[in-house]
Amino acid sequence: MGRQATIRESAVVSGLGLHTGRITTLRFLPAEVNTGVRFVRADLPGRPRVPARVSAVVDTQRSTTLGVGRAVVQTVEHILAAVQCLGLDNVEIEVQGPETPLTDGSSRQFIEALEGAGRVEQDAEQEYVELPHAVAVEQNGMTLCAIPAEEYRVSYTMLYSHPVIGLQFKEVVVSREVFVEEIGSARTFALYSELEQLLKAGLIKGGSLDNAIVITDQAILSKDGLRYPDEFVRHKIMDLIGDLALIGRRLRAHVVSIRSGHALNVRLARAICETCGIG
Ligand SMILES: [Zn+2]
Repeated sequence: MGRQATIRESAVVSGLGLHTGRITTLRFLPAEVNTGVRFVRADLPGRPRVPARVSAVVDTQRSTTLGVGRAVVQTVEHILAAVQCLGLDNVEIEVQGPETPLTDGSSRQFIEALEGAGRVEQDAEQEYVELPHAVAVEQNGMTLCAIPAEEYRVSYTMLYSHPVIGLQFKEVVVSREVFVEEIGSARTFALYSELEQLLKAGLIKGGSLDNAIVITDQAILSKDGLRYPDEFVRHKIMDLIGDLALIGRRLRAHVVSIRSGHALNVRLARAICETCGIG
């Protein structure tokens, strides 16, 4: 059992927002023990808080969006994966609108900001999820299950009918080192066929090769090539870790995924909360 931890000082990350294409700023702030991870909409009257918990999920199309009433925060998964994997339990994340910075489509800038802020242990024990039995969810040929285990392990099988991606498999034991070195720098990817309509509708003004890998029928378009030959499955693992962080406790489980995305990831998080009586 480790101690709960927060950051020593605040840290800022700025970047383009996906839809408006305007610069948006996010600020990590230290938080008290047992308060967990919370977003704060600093631009709204009363500065409403949005807990990074599965009960606050309002959308899982393309990315995971949280909301309480009018206070919505989009694309939280890369941020939450970084916070949890760097061993932080209590952090307030101030945003100035619904959009979080896209950065380069990975967790790299969030990792750098949080590491720069320093980690300080607090006077309470970290909380873990102990599964009494395996928990599984499935949908349209996608399967995701969590099996009780001593450590947090993720095995992900990705199957994409694209000549460059095809079948990719990766397994990691989730730790700070593994996240920083093997997972956190893997970037978001999107199919051009899915982006085309959004671009034509004047949405995703902030989207570019600066913050995503774009896949066309014939090719992979990315800045400076791929960071890893299997960058895609690594990013899927980051998304999964970020979505499961919405349980609000550390997992001791072997999570096995076949092709899961945000919707199924959040369904597993919900099922684990129900199984373990986590409110
Ligand atoms: Zn992602």
